[in-house]
Amino acid sequence: MIHVSQRDANVDVDVLIVGAGPTGLMLANQLARRGVKPIIIDRHSGPAQQSRAMAVQARTMEIYSKMGIIEKALALGARGTAANMWANGRWTARVPIGDIGQSMSPFPFVLMLGQDQNEHIMGDKLGEYGIAIEWNTELIALEQHPDHVDATIKGPDGTTRMIKAAWVAGCDGSRSPVRELSGIKFPGAPYEQTFFVADTEATGSMRPGELNVYLWRDGFHLFFPMRGKDGWRVIGILPKHLRQRDDLTFEEVVPAIQQEAGTNLSFKACHWFSTYRIHHRAAERFRDRRCFLLGDAAHIHSPAGAQGMNTGLQDAYNLAWKLALVVHGRADAALLDSYEQERIPVAQRLLQTTDRAFQLIVSDGWLGGLFRTRILAKVAARAMTFERVRQIAFRTISQIGISYPKSSMSRTLAGLPKDAPAAGDRFPWMHLKMRENSLPEDLFEYLDDTQFNLLVIGQPTLAAGALGDLGNLGDLVRVHTIAADHGNRLELARTKVPHPSFYLLRPDGHVGLCGTQLELADIKRYLAEQAHLIVRGVRGNAGFVQDKVAAMQTHRDAVGELTPAT
Ligand SMILES: Cc1cc2nc3c(=O)[nH]c(=O)nc-3n(C[C@H](O)[C@H](O)[C@H](O)COP(=O)(O)OP(=O)(O)OC[C@H]3O[C@@H](n4cnc5c(N)ncnc54)[C@H](O)[C@@H]3O)c2cc1C
Repeated sequence: MIHVSQRDANVDVDVLIVGAGPTGLMLANQLARRGVKPIIIDRHSGPAQQSRAMAVQARTMEIYSKMGIIEKALALGARGTAANMWANGRWTARVPIGDIGQSMSPFPFVLMLGQDQNEHIMGDKLGEYGIAIEWNTELIALEQHPDHVDATIKGPDGTTRMIKAAWVAGCDGSRSPVRELSGIKFPGAPYEQTFFVADTEATGSMRPGELNVYLWRDGFHLFFPMRGKDGWRVIGILPKHLRQRDDLTFEEVVPAIQQEAGTNLSFKACHWFSTYRIHHRAAERFRDRRCFLLGDAAHIHSPAGAQGMNTGLQDAYNLAWKLALVVHGRADAALLDSYEQERIPVAQRLLQTTDRAFQLIVSDGWLGGLFRTRILAKVAARAMTFERVRQIAFRTISQIGISYPKSSMSRTLAGLPKDAPAAGDRFPWMHLKMRENSLPEDLFEYLDDTQFNLLVIGQPTLAAGALGDLGNLGDLVRVHTIAADHGNRLELARTKVPHPSFYLLRPDGHVGLCGTQLELADIKRYLAEQAHLIVRGVRGNAGFVQDKVAAMQTHRDAVGELTPAT
């Protein structure tokens, strides 16, 4: 379902994306896949050269797969197989992490792939849609109007120009000018520790190709395997006596690392070294009228759990399909309200969990040191021998467990068992026979993520032509009747999907509406009232159409009347 955008004659562009980091690139790609051509600008002169984030989580890989870039990512990255725990210089435990999400995701592992390479892959893909990033181009002012935003841009030659955009996406990092120009507060605080990160070539006690975690009385060092001979990314906390130094070099940090990781540790080269303070902050709102905040512009937190880059990518995936439907005139702008309803709770939970994990890892003092060196490694290794613990750990870290139960777009009808997938959940991954006499297929590959998908299980499907009753929505919703088949029943039972049931999936794969008994009226009501799709020409239901149009007008008036944030 690709429509070509029909832009309002009063604007220069439907969506202006500020920032071409991972979040902006994901948003631009997802819009382009849906026929919306954004302008994307970045104040830097070109793509980032530093690797920064290192881990790509399963949910991100599932999205990469829909974008057609997963093969490249897998070829360039390395699968995380295990974490070796070292305490006081001695190897203590090996925690297997390879394939811990087996049967939960087509990508049951974490992929080690630097942020720079992720950006390259997404940037190349964007080029295939004919969209070029405008480098050396900086947003300097924003003025909101009821039907557009005037964005003042400074170009490479220093001159300014105005872009009239229907919507602006602030993917502009932790110091986000979009956030600041919108007057949105960013409460939180910095952690007291100063971190360092170094991309090195090193030899030592590290188990090759695996994560090595060196725990010591005063902190930790992480060694991530990188591509290339003896390539290691080293992350750690700076010793107290080095924290205030602006001119610090990697060579000065080496003795502290060797003290823990052993004197046989030798660095042959350091390609990148940086120190940084980490903050934990979340924007009070992720939206001011026509401007949205995504990625680090909306939330920053400790790197515990390698969630930062991935969360920004999911923000973009959440917003893109909604924005595309609104831009195409297929959905009312009320649909966009669900973006912050869904993503603010995700960011807040992330801040809490990463904060707790981080405090546990870095806590100062005798007790903290004892916990790190004597208890943490053994507990982690023992816990991961339990299947249930492994599953919970994978669901949490991989981001496949993210759910939007409280969203206005989530509706579970009465009758579904408590342990069944519910509205807001990412629908489980499984293999199903999608047609009589066909082989089981990967459901995620099969479903088109530019449409709503209605899965009908164990009951008569909508009568032929029933979708005609959805008027103009027929092309936005695809119906899949799951064949009555022994293998299908086993897969559904494994993932706790009841028989009979129906699941209406949003384009991003989350459940919008679900229940046991499929009724066309429930589907229609959901699409019009909760998905805010614009319904036209519904046969024999004129009152319904009029009601919807009236509701849309009211919402437009409300958007136009909103006052700036204080
Ligand atoms: C040293 C370091 C190490 C890190 N390590 C990890 C890690 O191990 N794991 C992890 O998950 N995360 C890590 N992170 C965090 C991760 O890099 C971020 O979460 C990620 O970059 C967020 O992506 P983003 O696109 O939202 O923002 P950014 O990557 O910050 O991109 C924002 C873009 O906006 C542009 N911009 C800003 N202002 C303007 C303007 N006025 N006009 C035009 N463009 C503008 C910037 O030039 C930039 O390119 C690390 C970060 C740092 C700094």
